[in-house]
Amino acid sequence: MTKNHRLVLEVVRERGCGTHLSMNEVHAFARERQPRIGFTTVYRALARLRDEKLISEIRLPGAEAAYFEPAGPSHAHFRCSSCGSVSDVAYALPPGATDDIARRDGVDIRDIHLSFHGTCRDCR
Ligand SMILES: [Zn+2]
Ligand SMILES: [Zn+2]
Repeated sequence: MTKNHRLVLEVVRERGCGTHLSMNEVHAFARERQPRIGFTTVYRALARLRDEKLISEIRLPGAEAAYFEPAGPSHAHFRCSSCGSVSDVAYALPPGATDDIARRDGVDIRDIHLSFHGTCRDCR
C-alpha cells in the first residue's frame, strides 16, 4: 500500500463508523495532513481501498455523490430527502434471508445495500 493510500484509509477510519464522507470531504481531510495530495490520487485510493474491502462505498438513490465509511458490520442507511443527511440504521436482514433469495431466484448475492428514505428528526 502506498503512503497516500494509507493516508486516505486513516482519514476515513479516524472519522469512524457513523460518518459518511463524500470524496470532497476525504480530499479536504487528507490535504490537512498532506497538502499536495491531489483529487485524482484520493479518487484512486478510495477505489482501491473499496476493492480491497477496507472501506465501503455507499450510493444512495437521490444522492448525487457516493459516501465512504470504514468497512464494518453491515447496516442500512437512512437518507433525509429534505436536507440530504445520511445516518446509520441498525437493521439487518433476518438470518437466512439472503440464502433463501439466492436459492429461490438462482442468483449469487455478493453485496447488499439497504436504504430507507424519508424525513429526518430535524426536518420533521
Ligand atoms: Zn433532514
Ligand atoms: Zn453507515
